[in-house]
Amino acid sequence: MTTRTRAQWQAMADKLEIRGQAWINGEYTEASSGKTFDCISPIDGKLLTRVTSCDEADVNRAVSVARSSFESGSWSQMAPADRKRVLQAFANKIDEHREELALLETIDMGKPISDALGDDIPGSANCIRWCAEAVDKIYDEVAPVGEGKLALVTREAIGVVAAIVPWNFPLSMASWKLGPALATGNSVILKPSEKSPLTAIRVAELAEEAGLPKGVLQVLPGFGHTAGKALALHPDVDCLAFTGSTKVARQLMIYAGESNMKRVWLEAGGKSPHIIFADTPDLEKAASYAAMAIGCNQGEVCTAGSRLLVEASIHDEFLPLLKKHLQTWQPGHPLDPETTSGAIVDDIQTRNVMRYIEAGQEGGAQLVMGGRQVMEETGGYYIEPTVFDQVDNKMTIAREEIFGPVLSVISFNDEEEAIRIANDTDYGLAAALWTGNLSKAHRVSRRLRAGSVFINNYHGGDMTVPFGGFKQSGNGRDKSLHAFDKYTELKSTWIALD
Ligand code: NAD
Repeated sequence: MTTRTRAQWQAMADKLEIRGQAWINGEYTEASSGKTFDCISPIDGKLLTRVTSCDEADVNRAVSVARSSFESGSWSQMAPADRKRVLQAFANKIDEHREELALLETIDMGKPISDALGDDIPGSANCIRWCAEAVDKIYDEVAPVGEGKLALVTREAIGVVAAIVPWNFPLSMASWKLGPALATGNSVILKPSEKSPLTAIRVAELAEEAGLPKGVLQVLPGFGHTAGKALALHPDVDCLAFTGSTKVARQLMIYAGESNMKRVWLEAGGKSPHIIFADTPDLEKAASYAAMAIGCNQGEVCTAGSRLLVEASIHDEFLPLLKKHLQTWQPGHPLDPETTSGAIVDDIQTRNVMRYIEAGQEGGAQLVMGGRQVMEETGGYYIEPTVFDQVDNKMTIAREEIFGPVLSVISFNDEEEAIRIANDTDYGLAAALWTGNLSKAHRVSRRLRAGSVFINNYHGGDMTVPFGGFKQSGNGRDKSLHAFDKYTELKSTWIALD
C-alpha cells in the first residue's frame, strides 16, 4: 500500500508539525488551567509533543459554543444537500492529507504505517463521505392515521453530541461518530483518548477548511476522569456517543442518570469466540484467519478473536498451522512498510498485557508460543504474539479482555459444547465459525449471541453494515443507516385537516 521506505517515513515524521492544542470555537486553544500532558510515542518512548489537558472549565466553554452553534441553525438548519457538500469536502481533505494523518496515527499509537495509510485514514474519509451521501436521500414518514387528520413522523437532530473515543483506531472510531452525527445536523464535541489525540486535533481544522461552520465540531483532548467525566455529567449535552471499555461504559450510564438522562450509546469491549469445526474444508486458510484475528493491530481490537475454540479431533493438526501463521504477526518497527504488527500503545497497556500472560501461566494454561516483551532496546513497547493452549473458559485469560496479542485456545467436543462455551461470556461483540456445512453454519450463527458473526472469514466490515454489540459489549449500532438513529429524535406531528 505504501511505496515509501521506513527511512522516508522517518524523515517525514521528523519534520512533522504536530499540534497538541484543543480546538474550541474554530481556534487552537490552551486549557484554561494551562495544563498539558506528555504525548509519548510507543515506537521509541520519546516525547512527541505536549497536549492540552482540558477539564471542566474547557468543557463548559465548548458546550456553550456547541449549543450556540446548534441554535443558530448555521449547520442544523442547513439543507441536507448542502451539509452533504461540506462533508464531502471534509472527506476529500482527509484523503488529501492521508500521509500526514497516517503518520500521526502511527507515531501516536504505534500501529503499522501500512495499516494507517491503507485502512484507518481512507476508511475514515469513506465513512464521512458515505454518511454525507446518504443524508439527502432519507425520507421521513406520513403515518396511515385515516381521514380528517395528518400525522408526520420526522427526524430531528438531537442537539449537542459528545463523542468519547478510544485509542486503538483513533480516527476510525471518531469518524464512526462524526459521520452520522454531523450529517444529521448536530454540533459535536469530540474527546479523543489521552493516549492518541493527534489525528482528532488535526481533522477538526480540516473540517473547518472544508466549510463546516465554527463551533459545529470541537475537539477537547484530556483525560477520562477530567474532560470525559465533565462531558458525561454536563446538563446541556444531549447525547453521549462512546466507544471504549465496558468498565467506563457502565460509568457513563451512571453519569447520564445523575445528570440529564442524556442519550447514551455504548460501543464497548469484547472477548470474541472463533470456532473451528472439524469439517472445515481448508484448515490452512482458517489458521491464517485465526492468526490475523488476534495478530492485527497488535491484538488491540475490540472484535479480536481472542478465544479460539477448536474441535478436539483436529486440535493437534490445527495448532502447528496456527503457530506458523502467527509468525507473520511478529512485531516490527511501525514505520517499516513491511511491518504487520507494531507497538503496544503505551507502557501501561504493555504491563497490563504482560500481567495477563503471567496470570495465564499461573492459572494452569499451557504457554505454547511467545509470551515475552521484545525490542526493548528501542525504548518502545512490543509484545510477541502469544498462544495459550489447554485453556478453560473459566480462566481469567478467557474471561477478561486482554487487548493485546494473546490468544486462548479452548477445545470442544461437539456443536452444543462449542455454542455453550462461545456464549459463556459477559460480552457479545463478535463471533466467528468455520465449517463446510451450510446448514450448520446458519444453525450455529443464529445461536451465537453477538452483534457480528463471521462465517468462514473474520473482521468483515463495510459502511453498509451495522456494527455493535449484544450484552455488555454495548447498545446501538455504528455504521450503516442504523447509526443515524442515534443522533436523531423522532417527532410525531398531528395536523387536523377539518
Ligand atoms: P477506555 O474505556 O479506557 O477509554 C475510552 C475513552 O473514555 C477515552 O477517551 C477515555 O479518556 C475516556 N474515559 C475514561 N474514563 C472516563 C470517565 N470516567 N468518564 C468519561 N470518559 C472516560 O478504553 P480504551 O482503553 O481507550 O480503549 C479500549 C477499549 O475500547 C476496549 O475495551 C475495546 O474493546 C473498546 N473498543 C470497542 C469498540 C467497539 O466498537 N465496540 C471499538 C474499539 C474499541
